[in-house]
Amino acid sequence: MKINKQWHEAHRMPRTATMNERLDWHLKHAANCACRDIPPSIKRELENRGLTVPTPRSLK
Ligand SMILES: [Zn+2]
Repeated sequence: MKINKQWHEAHRMPRTATMNERLDWHLKHAANCACRDIPPSIKRELENRGLTVPTPRSLK
């Protein structure tokens, strides 16, 4: 579990993020950093929308 500090500094989650913003953030986060998993509530929302959860491994 390595944190991509640069990515985090460039992509701060707004405190009042909407579900769309959170989904977008987590999709980008999963592709760029592995410091934490996508929360189950976000995973469910992605599945509801027919989106697959990216993993750093799948992108290499
Ligand atoms: Zn991270």
